[in-house]
Amino acid sequence: MKKVIFATGNQEKMKEIREILEDLDIELLSLKDAGIHADIVEDGKTFEENAQIKARTICNLTGEIVLADDSGLEIDYLNKEPGIYSARYMGEDTSYHIKNEKLIERLEGVPDEKRTARFVCAIAAAFPDGTMKTVRAAMEGRIGYKESGENGFGYDPIFYLPEYGCTSAELSMEEKNKISHRGKALRMIKDELR
Ligand code: IMP
Repeated sequence: MKKVIFATGNQEKMKEIREILEDLDIELLSLKDAGIHADIVEDGKTFEENAQIKARTICNLTGEIVLADDSGLEIDYLNKEPGIYSARYMGEDTSYHIKNEKLIERLEGVPDEKRTARFVCAIAAAFPDGTMKTVRAAMEGRIGYKESGENGFGYDPIFYLPEYGCTSAELSMEEKNKISHRGKALRMIKDELR
């Protein structure tokens, strides 16, 4: 069975990824499973570049096929902030409750139609022969007026989905996987791996 490493240390993400890729005939390993510890500088200017940097670095280190993702929240009214800096916005150690409150405050007085936003996810697959495949997917929504919901993580409690009448933090993991940026990007890269 072919080994494929997913370059993430996040166990929650790994759970989601295993579920979606489960019918591929591969042995899927996290960085931890593969015994790799690498501090990779994500200095790309786009989600795609950051995913490619991670995937290529680990592929060159291990000689295995490596997948890596990069994701974040783009808010149109804030010129697509926090974007590729979503995890680092206001500092890595600042709680998402504080980050979410800050974003709501920055949109004070902004009407519904100008609160458009999207979660973006790019996934890169790096192959030992030097080639790469990269995909991108998004989930469109709006920034709400207060936090709502306990599921998910990060910016989910302020990400309102008009078609569902709730935030992405009020969806179950299964419901979110079906429509999320990461779920869609994973299904796209899965087609590339077949
Ligand atoms: P990454 O792990 O480097 O891709 O970090 C992406 C960051 O974007 C996360 O730390 C969150 O702040 C944000 N983010 C990405 N996807 C989601 C999501 O599905 N819900 C909430 N926040 C997300």
